[in-house]
Amino acid sequence: MKTTNFLIIAVLSFCLSANTFAQELITVKHSCSFDGAELNEDFYTFEASSEADKIVSEIVNAVGIQKNFIIKSSDCKNALATTDNGERYILYNTSFLENFKKDARTKWAAYCVMAHEIGHHLNGHSFKVTDNRKRKSMELEADIFAGSVLYTLGASLEEAKAGIDLLQSNGESETHPPARARAEAIASGWKKKEETQRGRQSDIIVPEESESHRRTEDRTPPKKHTEEKVQPTPPAPDIEPLTTVSDQLMANNLVGFWTTSFFNVEGNLVTTNVGLYANYTMGVDVYTNGNLTNSVMEAWGIQNGHLIEMEVSGVYYKYSVEFSGNDTAILTFKETNGIALVPIGTVFTYVRFQP
Ligand SMILES: [Zn+2]
Repeated sequence: MKTTNFLIIAVLSFCLSANTFAQELITVKHSCSFDGAELNEDFYTFEASSEADKIVSEIVNAVGIQKNFIIKSSDCKNALATTDNGERYILYNTSFLENFKKDARTKWAAYCVMAHEIGHHLNGHSFKVTDNRKRKSMELEADIFAGSVLYTLGASLEEAKAGIDLLQSNGESETHPPARARAEAIASGWKKKEETQRGRQSDIIVPEESESHRRTEDRTPPKKHTEEKVQPTPPAPDIEPLTTVSDQLMANNLVGFWTTSFFNVEGNLVTTNVGLYANYTMGVDVYTNGNLTNSVMEAWGIQNGHLIEMEVSGVYYKYSVEFSGNDTAILTFKETNGIALVPIGTVFTYVRFQP
């Protein structure tokens, strides 16, 4: 009896441990590592630590993107971004990450590593590139992205660069630029982000409430940044007044600043920052690969649980809205009377941000 019990327990615990410590082998033909080239092709991968998961989530949320990769710990040299069987991966070495944080004396060193690898995926880098000059510029792009993310998350410039500064002695390799160039790439990404945020703050004014939207007069309008060029006044949205309590709640909840990023059909990273003001005007800033490419004022409103966005021309876009907590809004594109730039049904995840 005792033996049987023991066997059952042994079998059970084997199953449990096999489940908990699931490990798989992935073959990496091409990758972009954090530092230096990878010599191996086959990597054993393991479930990522909660800490690694948390870092990645914070980065992804800060940028307002959907996570399009799988994070695993592995026996790689430091960290790398790659694809295997059509899946995007980020692999990292636990000991490397621990030592890197310790040596740099800041947790931001670990964020820098992860943001760098995420930057490879978000910049749509091809890991098959063999031209060394191109490889090096890809590394610098990933570092610029990391610098920008680190600013957003609250790291100082010194903290943002602390990790890369440790690599100073490594010098230039076949695939990676010298550390001083990488430190400058991080600094430039960090500074650019700071300037963008500062610029927004100094442009802030409080909007005057329009006559047609007195229904919101009991609310304090949020701050609004002015546009450099004079924008035409958008028409009042041609929608029913808010009738249901849930529509009113949704409108209140949507007032504020939201951002989302996605790749367009050309493979460019598009970031849309939207300010929804209590007087039912909205400012839309579109960045393509980090450069401001469009900035317009429009109108918005809520109708039967749908967000209506209306351009000055009268073209409208309709989205269903779901919230995940107070700071994430999931918008599904439903219809337009204009030309749809994305397919009906496209889902955008917006996260709240402070301009
Ligand atoms: Zn890299």
